Amino acid sequence: MPNDTMKKIVSLAKRRGFIFQSSEIYGGLKACYDYGPLGVELKRNIKDAWWRDMVHRREDVVGLDCSIIMHPDVWKASGHLAGFSDPLVDCKNCKERFRADHAPRKDAGTETEYRENGKQDGKKLKGVVGKQGYVCPVCGGGDLSDERQFNLMFRTSLGSVDPMQEIAGAVEELAKLDAKGRRERLGEIIAKSAVYLRPETAQGMFVNFKNILDSSRMKPPFGIAQTGKSYRNEITTANLTFRTCEFEQMELEFFVEPGTDDEWYAYWRNARLEWYKKLGIREKNLRLRDHEQSELAHYAKACADVEYFFPFENESGEGEWGELEGIANRTDYDLKKHAEATGKDLSYFETETKKRYIPYVIEPAAGADRATLAFLCDAYDEEAIPDQKGEDAVRTVLRFHPRIAPIKAAVFPLVKKDGLPEKSREIMAALLDQGVNCFYDQSGAIGRRYRRMDEAGTPFCITVDAETNEQNTVTVRERDSMQQTRIGVNEVVEYIKEKVK
Ligand code: ATP
Repeated sequence: MPNDTMKKIVSLAKRRGFIFQSSEIYGGLKACYDYGPLGVELKRNIKDAWWRDMVHRREDVVGLDCSIIMHPDVWKASGHLAGFSDPLVDCKNCKERFRADHAPRKDAGTETEYRENGKQDGKKLKGVVGKQGYVCPVCGGGDLSDERQFNLMFRTSLGSVDPMQEIAGAVEELAKLDAKGRRERLGEIIAKSAVYLRPETAQGMFVNFKNILDSSRMKPPFGIAQTGKSYRNEITTANLTFRTCEFEQMELEFFVEPGTDDEWYAYWRNARLEWYKKLGIREKNLRLRDHEQSELAHYAKACADVEYFFPFENESGEGEWGELEGIANRTDYDLKKHAEATGKDLSYFETETKKRYIPYVIEPAAGADRATLAFLCDAYDEEAIPDQKGEDAVRTVLRFHPRIAPIKAAVFPLVKKDGLPEKSREIMAALLDQGVNCFYDQSGAIGRRYRRMDEAGTPFCITVDAETNEQNTVTVRERDSMQQTRIGVNEVVEYIKEKVK
């Protein structure tokens, strides 16, 4: 894919109201984004498709919506407080801070070429790759600091007492302590009211496992699904919404009897790849990548990522594979940890067989923002077609699957008279009544109106013209083929509903 594709997608996303930089009029906030009118519809449709396929269509899955702030001990038990950290490194040349595990690998001791201060137009310099065996992802330099761990959870305080007050009151006491003592004392004060924004939705399902068993008559194999915001203080953020500090997840925790876990893992690994294909992502841009044994989290028995080939700008200019979703066999680790921490019994007793066990968990964990970005990238297309004067022109079109397209149909009166606007409004109302999101546009030449809808990814445009008055028919123009079909006004709702089902 050409290197400027991502630039074009970012520009279209802003111009047409899919994605804006957060707080843009204040200069923007790094790695925070807002979804505009088209973007919010697209993301909602993706989340709705996930919920319908993962919860409504399945008798063995129920939904859940947990609070973002949970008891802080949840994160102690889950291991997030101690272990949810990334190795961070500072570049001594360009001063960028980055994740060591994401840096380009180069053999230690070999020569590396880097840009002075990381600036594109900076002088090209030569250096040596340090002992770490990687270089700065920004400037390519090899003169780097040691790695330090950094906790990714956002900490805040809950309650009426502001820890700053107690810290202010303890200034004299703190001044008498050495650095280590000061840190410990400050830690004690903060810990009294410290809570965290959840870094994943999954723990909500584990801590509610017993509630759901007791209230819903579910029994393994069964799953609990949740969509919602998660927060990670990510150090390296880039590529629009691919990696941000606030993002939305779509996670399923599927509880199974130990011994049946390999089978269920294989099932979900395949089912989740198929889901993206079913919603229109091209097969050539999707792959499943099994994790090497050395990559697995210590509690995981197996893990595979569904990856998408994003047109990100990089050195090769070809784009790169990025994770959309991870499918993991998390064993009984999480339930066991929460049972140990709370003293509560989180086992399952099967009455028919009199067997008691702690279920194993298969977790397909997807990101709604990454999926939205992948659907946007995959839908983007430029087509060379002659314009009205017969000259070469480019048609920019988003080829969304109708199920996820933000607007399903646009309704156009050919002219603003002869009762055509009124007739168009009637058709709009009938479509909206049936839950079909549509858009009315009466301004500009019809060709221009079609192009605007192509860029928004709207699969159908309905044009109301003179024949509508005479024969009660309209034309329906299909986005991808641009073919027009004449159908009766009374057929429109069923026709569109059937196509976007
Ligand atoms: P990565 O390796 O890319 O940091 P991860 O393996 O830590 O991701 P998981 O903890 O498995 O991610 O989270 C499940 C899904 O949540 C990911 O596949 C991704 O789609 C989404 N996700 C995770 N972190 C972010 C983020 N910072 N921004 C946007 N989406 C994210």
